[in-house]
Amino acid sequence: TLHSDLPRQGPGSDASTLEAINRLPALPPSPRVLDLGCGPGRQTLVLARTLKVPVVAIDIHQPFLDQLTTAAAKAGLADYVKTRRISMDALDYPVESIDLIWSEGAAYIIGVSKALQLWRPMLRPGGLLAFTEATWLTDNPPAAAAAFWEKAYPDMNTVAGNLRKAEAEEYEVIDTFTLPAEDWWAEYYAPLQKRIANLRPDCADWPELAAVIDATEQEINMFVRFGDSYGYVFYILRKPANSTL
Ligand code: SAH
Repeated sequence: TLHSDLPRQGPGSDASTLEAINRLPALPPSPRVLDLGCGPGRQTLVLARTLKVPVVAIDIHQPFLDQLTTAAAKAGLADYVKTRRISMDALDYPVESIDLIWSEGAAYIIGVSKALQLWRPMLRPGGLLAFTEATWLTDNPPAAAAAFWEKAYPDMNTVAGNLRKAEAEEYEVIDTFTLPAEDWWAEYYAPLQKRIANLRPDCADWPELAAVIDATEQEINMFVRFGDSYGYVFYILRKPANSTL
């Protein structure tokens, strides 16, 4: 109820997706591309439009996939956007069959280390993995922010910590960049705040909704106060060209 039909389900923007695409090393002709945890698929549309190749958008929540299918048709990208309802930890693609795995704001669901491990075999040697992940931007976060995220997402790491994980799983680091604060507001927190205002009257006799709204407002307040100590970071990694399975 809180999240349905919103433009995005996490921080991000078309501009940041495009920036990450521009930082990719060259892809082979007719690359095979997956977008994992695509949600409503804003980034899927940018990928399809920019790369001009089919993108398989994967999520477990059918309404998001339906939202994306409609948006793709409207954007004239129906031929490029395929959706599949399957879990990101139960993918059935053959080994070394994928050239680019994209995942914005979703790897955290299974955790970065597990995502790096599980997805690597599917990548062709030289294949690319680009994902965004909530990341500490300082080694010494303010106590209140540390306490909040210790409960909400204890695995949140620094850029250096995530890159150590990537190297431990035998990826090369191509690039990283931090998404601007605007990417948290324009298409994510601002629409959520509007939705919250509309739903407020329903909270009186819907305690579950009241609790979810309360938690969301706490998260937004945290970002207002301490949003310079953490952010979303784009990680662009490559499975080495000479790698074995
Ligand atoms: N990339 C989108 C959505 C990020 S939110 C955006 O940036 O807007 C995370 C998404 O992962 C949600 O759409 C959620 O439905 C999906 N998800 C949750 N568990 C999943 C799983 N096990 N496999 C695939 N997708 C999952």
